Amino acid sequence: MAETKIKQNVGIAKAVVILAAVANEAHRLNLPAEVVITSVSGGWHSKNSRHYFGQAVDVRSKNFPHTAKRVFLQRVLTRLGEGYTGLLEGEGSPNEHFHIQWSGGPRKRPLTEEVE
Ligand SMILES: [Zn+2]
Repeated sequence: MAETKIKQNVGIAKAVVILAAVANEAHRLNLPAEVVITSVSGGWHSKNSRHYFGQAVDVRSKNFPHTAKRVFLQRVLTRLGEGYTGLLEGEGSPNEHFHIQWSGGPRKRPLTEEVE
């Protein structure tokens, strides 16, 4: 199955680039778990969070096989390349999730207003 590729400087929010990497890597790893995006700009985040700039994505992790969690995160970050960072937040808690963000430049508002 073909992967989704996004050219550099195509002019979209970094969150879209992250979402494509998550989808491609989930497919490549053939994960038995459903991959659920739990937040981009919605929900509650710390003030000045990259989420509010369309530069961060949260992905549910608690339904992943334990051994697949770090492999998945590392592969997504490798695929994204320089400037992106991520971590497994709240490990072992009901709120556990992957937080993946663009850290390679300033916070900038995405091109469009939030669409519900
Ligand atoms: Zn987050």
